[in-house]
Amino acid sequence: MRHANPTRGKPFGFKRDRLPNPADYYRDQGLKLIGGGEWKNALCPFHNDSKPSLRVRLDSGSFRCMVCGEHGGDVLSFHIKRHGLRFIDAAKALGAWEVTR
Ligand SMILES: [Zn+2]
Repeated sequence: MRHANPTRGKPFGFKRDRLPNPADYYRDQGLKLIGGGEWKNALCPFHNDSKPSLRVRLDSGSFRCMVCGEHGGDVLSFHIKRHGLRFIDAAKALGAWEVTR
């Protein structure tokens, strides 16, 4: 039995430039970003946070929690960790996955 592998030889459909704007994304995720400067502070959604421990960069979307240590380099990795998704599913959820034919 043989069947064609539909993904073989195709480039990844991930389109980084279609990731949402980090400021809009984190707001949509319910994070209240506070503070001035490059790094914003927010309550960390990865542990039971009582004061804003999560540092978020709005240009790159990178984040790091100073308490539980959760971190990542962009909104995609935040989405993967927060919602327990695979890379492809998170990219699709954020509208950054193009189905190529
Ligand atoms: Zn945390």
